[in-house]
Amino acid sequence: MATKAFVPGTGKDKGKVRQVQACRVEWKDGRMQEVPGSEFMLQADLVLLAMGFVHPVGSVLDAFGVQRDARGNASAGTEDAGGYATNVPKVFAAGDMRRGQSLVVWAIREGRQAAREVDRFLMGSTDLPR
Ligand SMILES: Cc1cc2nc3c(=O)[nH]c(=O)nc-3n(C[C@H](O)[C@H](O)[C@H](O)COP(=O)(O)OP(=O)(O)OC[C@H]3O[C@@H](n4cnc5c(N)ncnc54)[C@H](O)[C@@H]3O)c2cc1C
Repeated sequence: MATKAFVPGTGKDKGKVRQVQACRVEWKDGRMQEVPGSEFMLQADLVLLAMGFVHPVGSVLDAFGVQRDARGNASAGTEDAGGYATNVPKVFAAGDMRRGQSLVVWAIREGRQAAREVDRFLMGSTDLPR
C-alpha cells in the first residue's frame, strides 16, 4: 500500500493527523503503480515515517553528464587504479552517490579510496592507503 494523504481532524483535533488516505499498489515495469479504485481510509493518531531512499537527484548527474547505473546512481567502479572515476574526465563519485543509500562506514571507505584515485589522477602515482 502507499500513503496518499494525511487527513487532519477538526475542532480540538485541528492540525493533528486523524486519518490516512491510502491505496493499494502493484509493481509494473519496475515501478510502483496505484491500483485504480483501491483507495481506502485508515484511522490514525500517530504516524511514523519510515522512509527509504532511492538514487541521487538525477538533475545533478545530468548537469555534469555523468552516466547512471541501472539503479540511478553515478556509474563508477571501485578497482585499484582508475576506480571511482565516472565517464566524465575529472569527475569522481563515491559513497551514497555511487553505491546508493548505504552505511557511513562504506562512505568513509569509498571516500578514502576515491581520494587515493584522485591523487593518482593528479600526480601520476599515489602513496595514499587504499
Ligand atoms: C536519516 C538517515 C539515517 C541514517 N542512519 C545511519 C546509521 O545509523 N548508520 C549508518 O551507517 N548510516 C546511516 N545513514 C546513511 C549514512 O548517513 C550515509 O550512508 C552517509 O552519510 C553517506 O555519506 P556520503 O559522504 O556518501 O554522502 P552524504 O553524507 O550525503 O554527503 C554528501 C554531501 O554533499 C553535499 N551536497 C549535495 N549536493 C551538493 C551540491 N550540489 N554542491 C555541494 N555539495 C552538495 C551534501 O550537503 C552533503 O554534505 C543514514 C542516512 C540517513 C538519511
